[in-house]
Amino acid sequence: MTVSYSGEIKKVLEKKKISDFDEVEVKKQNVSYSGKLIPRPEIYSQDHVILKLKNGYNIGVNFDEIKEINKIKSATVEKEDKNKDKHKKTLVQKRDPKKPTIAILSTGGTIASKLDYATGGVVVSFSVDDLIGAVPELNSIANIETEVVCSVWSQWMTQDNWQQMAKAVKKYIDSGVDGVVILHGTDTMGYSAAALSFMLRDSPVPVVLTGAQRSTDRASADSAMNIICAVQTAVSDISGVSVVMHGESDDSFCFVHPGAKVKKTHSSRRDAFQSINVLPFAKVWPSGKMEFVRDDFKKRDKKRKLLTGFDLSEKVALIKLYNGYPVEDFLYQIKKGTKGIVLEGTGLGHVPNADFFEAALIAKKAGVIVCMCTQTVWGRVRDDVYEDGRKIQQCGVIPLEDMLSETAFVKLKWVLANSKNVDEARKLMIENLAGEITERTDPRTFVCMPGVV
Ligand code: GLU
Repeated sequence: MTVSYSGEIKKVLEKKKISDFDEVEVKKQNVSYSGKLIPRPEIYSQDHVILKLKNGYNIGVNFDEIKEINKIKSATVEKEDKNKDKHKKTLVQKRDPKKPTIAILSTGGTIASKLDYATGGVVVSFSVDDLIGAVPELNSIANIETEVVCSVWSQWMTQDNWQQMAKAVKKYIDSGVDGVVILHGTDTMGYSAAALSFMLRDSPVPVVLTGAQRSTDRASADSAMNIICAVQTAVSDISGVSVVMHGESDDSFCFVHPGAKVKKTHSSRRDAFQSINVLPFAKVWPSGKMEFVRDDFKKRDKKRKLLTGFDLSEKVALIKLYNGYPVEDFLYQIKKGTKGIVLEGTGLGHVPNADFFEAALIAKKAGVIVCMCTQTVWGRVRDDVYEDGRKIQQCGVIPLEDMLSETAFVKLKWVLANSKNVDEARKLMIENLAGEITERTDPRTFVCMPGVV
C-alpha cells in the first residue's frame, strides 16, 4: 500500500486502507466527489487531497472541509506497476545508435506546469523528465536528451532568456544532436522564435519550439500531441527555427510554422498559432506523417555551419499608434536613449498626425532607426499609396513590408547590436535574413474563421 500524503491526511487514509490511485468518494458538507486519488507531489501544500474525476479534470479538496472519505475500489496493482516500468524505461534508456537524437530543452510555460491544487492556479513545476515520462511515445521516435534551461512564464522572459536558449541550442547542435525541441510558454513564443531565427541562422538541423494552451492535467490538454509532433518535426528535413502547434482544435495534426512569421492569434484556442502572410511549412501528424505545404525551407544538412550572434543589448521600443497618440511620448524614447523604434501604424502604415514627420526627422538626426509595421497583422506596409505614407518615408522611417511587428522588434535589437554602423543596420532591416520578409503576400494566407465567412 502506497500513500504519498503525509500528516493527518496520511493517518486517515491509512486507517481506511486507501492507497494512491484507489477510487474514492469524498464527502463535503453539501457535495460529494468520486474519483481516483492521485499522488500528491511534494511541492503542493500539505492540506489537500487530489482527485482525478471521471471527466478527466483533477480537483483539490481541502482536508478540513472533508466530512468523510471512503474507498470505492482498489487500484489494480498490475496497472500501477506497468506505468512505473514505462517511466523507468523512458528515463534510463540507452542511446540507440539506429535512432536520431533530439535534445528537449524546457523553458517553462503551461507545457512545463501543473495545477497547484491549493490555489487553483497553474505553477511551473513539471520537470522535463516528468514530461518525457508522461509521453513514452517519444522513445520510439528518437533518443531523447533533456535540459531545463529556465523555468519562467513566457511573458516574464527577457532578452537574457533568449540568449540562454540560443546558447543551449548551440551547445546541443555542437554536440551532434539531430534536432532540438524547446518547450515554451505560448504567450510570447513568437518573440522567442523570431529571436532565435536571427541568433541562430542557417541552423544545420531543425530547432522547434512548442507549447501548450491547456495544462497537462486537463482533459483538453494539448501538450502531449504538440510535443510528439515537435519531435517528429525535429527528426524531419525542415531545418531552421519553427513553431509546432495544433493545426485545428481537434487532436488531428499540427502545423509547422516558420519561426519569424508566426503569431499567437487567440488567447485560448488550441489552434491559436498562425503563420502570418505566408503558408506554414508543413502539416505533421503524431504518427510522423508529414505533408509539406512549401518547399522553400533549408533542408537539414549537418555540414552547414551555424551562424550565431547573441548580442541583443541595444534598447528598442515597440509602439502601437492610435488616434491621439502623443508625439511627445515618441520623442521621449529618443531622449532616454532608445536606439531603435518599431511603429505599429494603422492600415498601410500611417501615423496619427502631421507632428510625426518632424519627430521622425529628429529621430533620424539622433541616429535612431525608426521602422514601420502594420497593426492589421495581415497584409503589408505600403507607404507609397497615400501622401502621408510617402512623407513619413521621406522623413527616414523604414517600411518593413510584411514583417510582423514582434519580429521587427527583436530583429531591430539584433541588427543594432550586430552591425558596424547605423547605415548598415538600416540596410539589414529590409534584407530578408531569416524568412521574415516575403516579396509578395500570398492571398491564401489570410485566414477567415470557418463558419463566419
Ligand atoms: N502565460 C503563460 C506563458 O506564456 C502561460 C500560457 C502558456 O504557456 O500557454 O508562459
